[in-house]
Amino acid sequence: MIPLEEAQAHVFAQITQLDVTSVELSEARSLFTAVPLKASASVPPFDNTAVDGYAVRSADLRRASLENPVVLHILGTLAAGELSDESVEPNTAIRIMTGAPIPMGADSVIMVEDTSRGPNDTVLAFKSTTAGANIRKAGSDIESGDVVFSSYTEITPAVLGSLASIGLKMVPVIRRPRVAVISTGSELTDEVPLPLGKIRDSNRPSLMAAIIEMGAEPVDYGPIPDDYEILKEVFVRASKECDAVVTSGGVSVGDFDYSKKVLEEISSNQMRWMQISIKPAKPFAFGMIGSKALFGLPGNPVSALVSFELFARPSIAMMMGNPNPFRTVTKASVEAGIKRSPDGKIHFLRSTVKFDQNGKLQCQLNDGQSSHMLNSLAHSNALAVVPDGTGIDKKGLVEVMLLSRVL
Ligand code: AMP
Ligand code: MG
Repeated sequence: MIPLEEAQAHVFAQITQLDVTSVELSEARSLFTAVPLKASASVPPFDNTAVDGYAVRSADLRRASLENPVVLHILGTLAAGELSDESVEPNTAIRIMTGAPIPMGADSVIMVEDTSRGPNDTVLAFKSTTAGANIRKAGSDIESGDVVFSSYTEITPAVLGSLASIGLKMVPVIRRPRVAVISTGSELTDEVPLPLGKIRDSNRPSLMAAIIEMGAEPVDYGPIPDDYEILKEVFVRASKECDAVVTSGGVSVGDFDYSKKVLEEISSNQMRWMQISIKPAKPFAFGMIGSKALFGLPGNPVSALVSFELFARPSIAMMMGNPNPFRTVTKASVEAGIKRSPDGKIHFLRSTVKFDQNGKLQCQLNDGQSSHMLNSLAHSNALAVVPDGTGIDKKGLVEVMLLSRVL
């Protein structure tokens, strides 16, 4: 057995960032910027009103109060998207809607709530304003020429919107990886009804979903029977067509297994077949097929996903240029403690992590820790990382790797 860090270091040392390309903004979601992005326009592009109200001159309203409202003559109404052809002269106002450009002559906006309509196109102002009040200045969000995002920024929905606000059409990004997903095993079938002795392929759908979730593009190469010719054809094609290959099944010791033979052949004998001191997901294989990384995950569904989390996910994130390729690991308290026996392995235990009333993270182990029990992983949002030894005392702290939202 080798330590997890050694196996991870071996894998990550061979991962390289993909090349840079330019994509349409609508295609940039979850990718990472390849260069610092400069704004070629200001946002807002012009001074505009933050409220519905009246564009006024603060000088006119100096004495305005509830008891002594100032009466202004209304010159017109301005909606968002319109320009005024009039300018606000002394003792006049222009009715103005949120987002409309500030008309000439006005230096502030009084909220409609602080006014009331008078007779004959007049408005009574009950409050004074200061110059600039309720005005969103041009460039107050983004100044033209500013670097809005540095390189290696993840294009989240807000980043995407922010880039849209400056009118950016094409974004230089690190290319979206295409990741081949293969399941191996003659026991896997879609046949209905399920023939005795066969099982459904759960690894491929969940690995594909995990790949989509991280912003990469999965490519489905189906379940492949344990057949030398078919395995060879599929592995060769997948490693040609994709940037990385994630395969599950047939990597453990003692397997009577063609995928081992095929992978040895097509990687020119440089696959590394590892036994890692972790539980689940002890067996793991990694090698380069030409320039493409191949991740050989164990077949047991929980092991496959844990192995994906520890090796494939961070690697794919590195390929995408993600500067923080790892899941969040933090500490949570375990009321009941965790009992385990020393076996030389780190245990990754399926858990639910929640905030308690005091906002502190609490970790509770879930039932069913055997590596075929995918359903218990499906009911978990974290893996408790329990180092080798006798476990964690009652009310002690345990490291948790967050897989999804804390409840
Ligand atoms: P293997 O690693 O190929 O020896 O498989 C270990 C266990 O995982 C066996 O019980 C397999 O039937 C099961 N298994 C392998 N691949 C899959 C899959 N894609 N979906 C569900 N179970 C699988
Ligand atoms: Mg198998």
